[in-house]
Amino acid sequence: MAKRTVTLIPGDGIGLETSAAMQRVVEASGAAIAWEVAEAGAHTMENCGTPLPDSTIEAVKRNGVAIKGPITTPVGTGFRSVNVALRRALGLYVCLRPVLSLPGAGGRYDDVDMVIVRENSEDLYAGIEFEEGSQAARDLIRFCEETGAGAIRPDSGISVKPISVTATRDIVEYAFDYAAKHGRTKVTAVHKANIMKHSDGLFLRVAREVAEERAASIGFDDRIVDAFCMNMVVDPSQFDVVVFPNLYGDIASDLAAGLVGGLGIAPGANIGKRYAVFEAVHGSAPDIAGQDKANPTAQILSAAMMLDHVGERVAAERIRRAVRAVYADGKYLTADIRKATRSSERAARCSEFTAALEEALEQMD
Ligand code: ATP
Ligand code: MG
Repeated sequence: MAKRTVTLIPGDGIGLETSAAMQRVVEASGAAIAWEVAEAGAHTMENCGTPLPDSTIEAVKRNGVAIKGPITTPVGTGFRSVNVALRRALGLYVCLRPVLSLPGAGGRYDDVDMVIVRENSEDLYAGIEFEEGSQAARDLIRFCEETGAGAIRPDSGISVKPISVTATRDIVEYAFDYAAKHGRTKVTAVHKANIMKHSDGLFLRVAREVAEERAASIGFDDRIVDAFCMNMVVDPSQFDVVVFPNLYGDIASDLAAGLVGGLGIAPGANIGKRYAVFEAVHGSAPDIAGQDKANPTAQILSAAMMLDHVGERVAAERIRRAVRAVYADGKYLTADIRKATRSSERAARCSEFTAALEEALEQMD
């Protein structure tokens, strides 16, 4: 069978270890995947003078699909975030994060099965900021005063939060399409429309419009973000597909990951109309990088999402079954999971956990 080429961006920090583990597991799953490795991150900065070379973006465009490890944004590079720059260059307007209980992973709940759909291009991530005391900040403060918009203290730094009709429509339509395609029954929009009428208020209004236009077979409701957090902690099983503006989606992703076992097991994808980049929710975790301690589950489950995306459904399901088996068995679990389960048993190294997964895959028929 011809192999499908996928771009692999190993990233940096624990990304080097989790990416290697992921490759071994995909190999053992029998998926017909060939890797084209592309560089990005701190070490790339030293070699290429930029943490995100054009050749890496070209590689993703050429193959259409990529999987990446976390990337640290080195200071003083002219990038606010390499990850945000990559999403922008590829038009990846959706951040998709399935949150699924994994028995044995130490989560607070065993019945969570929700999907976070996070807007990926605007909101406070737009990067429009005015430094405290700068001319631009002073002009803006004067403008707000003169137009009666409101008083801002002169010693304020200011970040701008744009939320557009276009991006909101795109993300909410994606959430409904995703729900329809995956047999899910409800979309919930999360916002703070009572306080921010022209940004979150717009988000809610457009979400309601899209819901009206869509088939009634998929329900719709909304939550104010603070109430959403409380509801999540008390009973996360009530949520199905949940759509967020960028920042709330970021925070809710970590909250949700924490409820089902932590960042070590939370997979994700950034998806656009033409390209898709799969990656774990977690960052580069410099505190444990290079020590064979990282939990590669999040990136391995991201690879399973990638395999679904390229039509390798059987291999994807084999990987998920192997992950469930190794967690249920409980013998080879990494330090983060031992901590989450308050277990005093010896923690497995990243490489030992990976070997256990390979063995589970080999024994599967
Ligand atoms: P970012 O700004 O990129 O989100 P962050 O500062 O939030 O990064 P992360 O790297 O996401 O930090 O993770 C926070 C901490 O959680 C890490 O320092 C590490 O201790 C732990 N952690 C994250 N991912 C993993 C993993 N895969 N395995 C084990 N521990 C992890
Ligand atoms: Mg983080």
